[in-house]
Amino acid sequence: MKNKNTFNTHHQVVIVGAGIAGCTIAGELNRAGLSVGIVDQQSGPAKETSAHETALAHPQVGKKISKLQRFTQLANQIANDKWLSAQLCSQAFESIQGLDAISISKLKELIHEMKYDEQTIQVITENEAKLKANVGAPGIWYESAAIYSLPQICQKEIATLNLDSQYWSCNIAKICFFENTWWVYSEDDLLICSAPVIVLANGLGVQKLLKGLQINLPVRPVRGQLSKFLIRGDSELVAYLPKIALRGDGYCLPAQPLTNHDWMWEIGSSYDEDSVDQAHWIQSDVDNAIKGLNLIQREHSYQKEMTPISSFVGIRSASKDRLPLIGPIENQPGLFVACCYGSRGVLWSALAAPLIRAYVEGFLAGAVRLRAGFLTGASTLLSAEVASSVNPARFFAGALGARTSNSKPILPES
Ligand SMILES: Cc1cc2nc3c(=O)[nH]c(=O)nc-3n(C[C@H](O)[C@H](O)[C@H](O)COP(=O)(O)OP(=O)(O)OC[C@H]3O[C@@H](n4cnc5c(N)ncnc54)[C@H](O)[C@@H]3O)c2cc1C
Repeated sequence: MKNKNTFNTHHQVVIVGAGIAGCTIAGELNRAGLSVGIVDQQSGPAKETSAHETALAHPQVGKKISKLQRFTQLANQIANDKWLSAQLCSQAFESIQGLDAISISKLKELIHEMKYDEQTIQVITENEAKLKANVGAPGIWYESAAIYSLPQICQKEIATLNLDSQYWSCNIAKICFFENTWWVYSEDDLLICSAPVIVLANGLGVQKLLKGLQINLPVRPVRGQLSKFLIRGDSELVAYLPKIALRGDGYCLPAQPLTNHDWMWEIGSSYDEDSVDQAHWIQSDVDNAIKGLNLIQREHSYQKEMTPISSFVGIRSASKDRLPLIGPIENQPGLFVACCYGSRGVLWSALAAPLIRAYVEGFLAGAVRLRAGFLTGASTLLSAEVASSVNPARFFAGALGARTSNSKPILPES
C-alpha cells in the first residue's frame, strides 16, 4: 500500500475516488487484465458516502415502462449476480394505497410485459402482505430486492488489486494532461501516479478537478440521514414492526430484536438538496420516524415510542436530471467520469463498471465505437440507451461539442 511519500507509478488506468463508484470500476478493469491504480484522500475504501452499510436496491415498477425501469431491472440483476455476498438481507415490500381490482390487473400486465417472472416481482394481497411483511395492505413484493453493505462491496473489489496500486491518504488537487498521459498531483504538489486513462469517481470532488481543466460540470450535493430507533419490548408498536425491508416514501429495514427484548429499527432517509452539512440533525430523525410509521401504516402518535439511538449522514452527488454522469469528457483524451449516483449507488455502480470498461478498452485499442453487448444480459439497443442516457455530453451540447472530439462516439456496433 502506498502513501503520499511514494509516487509516480505509471498504470494503464488511474481511478480517483475509492467509494462504491471507484472501487467497482477498479475491480472490473483489474479483472479485465488492465493495470489499475486507485487514489483516495481517506485511509482506505468506502470512508465517505459509501460508508453506508444498509443500501437498498430493487427494480423499479411504475405506471408504465420507463427508461429508468428498464435500466434498474438490468442493474438489479447485475448487482444480485455480482455482490450476493454483500447482501445483509433480501426481498422488500411496497404497499400501494387504493389498489383495486383494475389497477391490480394493470400492474400485473405491466410486470408481465417487463418479463419479470412471478418469483421476481409479484402483486400480493393484503393477507399475503400481513403474513410476509407484517403490513396490512396490498402491494408489490420484490423478491430480488436486497440491502447491501457498500463497504463490503468496496472491500471485495479492492481486494483484487495489488497493494502497491492503492494510494491512500492522497488528496488530489490537480490533474494535468501532457505527453498523452494524465498526471495526478496531491495538494502539496507531489506527483502521485500517472496513466493514459483517468477515471474521476470522487463524488462531488469531480467538479473541482474538472474546474482545474476549465470544465464546468453541473454537480450538486444532496445530504441524507438514516436513523436507528430503539423501541421498547413492551411498546404497542412492536406488534406492527416490519419483518422485511419496506419501500415507499423512504425505506426501512426489517426490525431487529435485541437481547433484552427491545427492538432496533432503521429508517431512511432525508433528501436535503444543496446541503453538505455532515452533522446529525434532530429534525431528520423526526422525519424518518414519520416515514417509518407511514411505511407500516401506523398513526404518527407512535413516534413518542421511538427513541433515536444513532444515525448515518452522507452527502450524495446528483446531476440536474437525476441520472448519473458516466462516460467520457469531450475533447479530453482518456478522461472519464463516474459520479452523481444520487440515491442509487448500488444500481448505477452495477451498470457503470462494465460501461466504463467498454469505454476504456475501446480507447486503449483506438476503437471508434463501443463494442456491442458490453452490458451482459442487455440487448445492443438497451446498452446504447444506457450509454447515451448517462453520458456527461448531455450537459455540454453546444458548449464543448463544437471542437473535434477525442472521446469516441458512444453508440455500440450493431
Ligand atoms: C442517507 C443515504 C441513504 C442512501 N441510501 C441508498 C440506498 O438505499 N441505496 C443505494 O443504492 N444508494 C443509497 N445511497 C447513495 C449511495 O450511498 C451513494 O450513491 C454512493 O455511496 C456514492 O458513491 P461514490 O463512490 O460516488 O461516492 P463516495 O462514496 O463519496 O466516494 C468518493 C470518494 O472520493 C474520495 N475523494 C473525493 N475527493 C477526492 C480528492 N480530491 N482526492 C482523493 N480522493 C477524493 C472520497 O474520499 C471518497 O472516498 C444513500 C446515500 C445516503 C447519503
